[in-house]
Amino acid sequence: MLTESKKKSIDPLVVRKDFPLLARTVNNKPLIYFDNGATAQKPQAVIDAVDYYYSFQNANIHRGVHTLSQEITIAYENARATVQMFLNAEHAHEIIFTKGTTDAINLVAHSYGKKFIEEGDEIIISAMEHHSNILPWQQLCDDKKALLKVIPINNDGEIELEVLKGQLTSKTKLLAITHVSNTLGTINPIKEIIALSHQLGIPVLVDGAQAVPHLKVDVLDLDADFYCFSAHKLFGPTGVGILYGKEKWLNEMPPYQTGGGVIKTVTFEKTTFADLPLKFEAGTPHIAGGIGLAAAINYVDKIGLINIANFEHSLQEYATKLLSEIEGLKIIGATKQKAAVISFVIDGIHPFDIGMILDKQGIAVRTGHHCTQPLMQIYGVEGTVRVSFAFYNTMEEIDSFILALKKAIKMLT
Ligand code: PMP
Repeated sequence: MLTESKKKSIDPLVVRKDFPLLARTVNNKPLIYFDNGATAQKPQAVIDAVDYYYSFQNANIHRGVHTLSQEITIAYENARATVQMFLNAEHAHEIIFTKGTTDAINLVAHSYGKKFIEEGDEIIISAMEHHSNILPWQQLCDDKKALLKVIPINNDGEIELEVLKGQLTSKTKLLAITHVSNTLGTINPIKEIIALSHQLGIPVLVDGAQAVPHLKVDVLDLDADFYCFSAHKLFGPTGVGILYGKEKWLNEMPPYQTGGGVIKTVTFEKTTFADLPLKFEAGTPHIAGGIGLAAAINYVDKIGLINIANFEHSLQEYATKLLSEIEGLKIIGATKQKAAVISFVIDGIHPFDIGMILDKQGIAVRTGHHCTQPLMQIYGVEGTVRVSFAFYNTMEEIDSFILALKKAIKMLT
């Protein structure tokens, strides 16, 4: 584990200074950035790490005997070790660099799917999944004539655990579920779900895209078989992400993509593949991305995820209280176990119109289906307005947002 910093309260006005973009204006108003669920802003430490790589370290990894190549290979492998410590994985070679969460899930769907899924098998997902954790399994099931089962949720946006118990059978070959819902904010009881699944020997893939920026994740404690996340939601660069996989699974799985970097030997007749993690990292990776991700993790670790979770909880509670007082406004997903996300709809007003008017006030929120169309269908809405917080947001920003929202409602009714 990284040295999680001591318990202390966060002063958003201090940490904001680390994020240059937060100082800008949008439409001549100070920016209020409440779209952290889509992507988070980057601290100077991450920008500097990426800049330093391109300015002074640029070379390809794992290939050269020359000094630059060796230096950056060490730096890249150190970045892998930083991710290992961040997730508390047992081995650094269980950390696979990918393009992001979507890429990591596709890797497992293709590779695990090729080896382990057969006709008549079953894969389970939940009703609150992002399209990235639906489509790869839907396609795999189509290809293999397997069955995709969906765990229902209750009206508060919580997984129906009792139903799941009945859905897990000897035919189930994988359970893929999100740790935190990007639309509802629900924090799923992942440890309990994994334990249930493991009673039948069924591996679990966890989509951690919305969890790692807000919660301390320990893959050993969770006993997750696969855990995926994207750097860009964790204050790191876009285009890079992580697949954690237990060694026992990754060793058995075939390469996902092939080409340079994944091999031990190649002849025209036959190829032998490299050991983990290189077996799953075909081609030149996003080196600056890996370096930037490690810088992001070190930055977050200094602030402390426990402190982040506590601070964001107070933002969430404050915003929920103020939003609940607005007539005609309905929060979608009312569970108590939530992380930094609030989705809502307003009677008779299209979410898009709210988003446009808030933007004029320099307030960035997300509107639409949030890549969770099946979830929208369950709630019977076309889309929602979603606000998602980070530790650099303030109570004053929430006040300004509520004022602007009330104005927008007045204009639109
Ligand atoms: N899963 C969840 C829960 C998400 O919120 C997102 C991003 N919105 C993804 C997967 C996909 O992440 P990426 O686009 O970075 O691959």
